[in-house]
Amino acid sequence: MAYKIIIDPGHGGSDPGATFNGRQEKDDALALAMAVGELLKNAGFDVEYTRTTDVYNTPFEKATIANNVGGDLFVSFHRNSSAEPNQYNGVQTLVYNNSGLKSNLAANINKNLAAVGFQDKDIVERPNLVVLKRTKMPAVLIEAGFINSEQDNKIFDEKFNEMAQAIADAIIDTLDDAGIRATTMNDYRVQVAAFRNRQLADNMAATLRNQGFVVNILAEDGLYKVVVGEFSNLDNAVALEQRLRMMGYNTFIRT
Ligand SMILES: [Zn+2]
Repeated sequence: MAYKIIIDPGHGGSDPGATFNGRQEKDDALALAMAVGELLKNAGFDVEYTRTTDVYNTPFEKATIANNVGGDLFVSFHRNSSAEPNQYNGVQTLVYNNSGLKSNLAANINKNLAAVGFQDKDIVERPNLVVLKRTKMPAVLIEAGFINSEQDNKIFDEKFNEMAQAIADAIIDTLDDAGIRATTMNDYRVQVAAFRNRQLADNMAATLRNQGFVVNILAEDGLYKVVVGEFSNLDNAVALEQRLRMMGYNTFIRT
């Protein structure tokens, strides 16, 4: 199975999160989350988002999405806030408890963001946060600087790409250290179709199963994608694709 990383942009829609001088946490969170997700996709990981647009879902719904799609790692993106403007600066990464893979990841995220210029305000245990508590996979929540700190906003805006890369690198390095990355890199599937309508995807999956194929439906980018097979060897994926094409399916090979 491909290693699946759930990217959760905090807040959204009717919930702006923290705000400062017209700046809204939900927008910063979405922009940073999408940038990190793109880098992780390029690195060969399977990435799913809890939202890609300005919509609201509750923390419980976010955790449910992550659990239902079989996420292996959950990374939530937020910005911090304090009572007074410019009272604090820096990044914090929150975990359910400070142990295991999530703890290593949180330390690497803080370290890499400190290298970009943020103060490292350490790992914080938050056992009552729903997205950390209800997710069945290791989960971290990144507070990417204080939204009411001019200093942090300057780093966020001027070093945005470096920040995204720093977080992606922290994730990739942590998984590498745990021996996880290698198994994700060569994972080929044949995509047969993508639908906006779940029922159409289910219908095609049923047809393919009747024809003897191993089928999965992936919810990605607002689409239900019907994929067949899962191979570490590209040649095997190509052979399967040829069979599907002979049967009239319009396919492509993906990771
Ligand atoms: Zn938040």
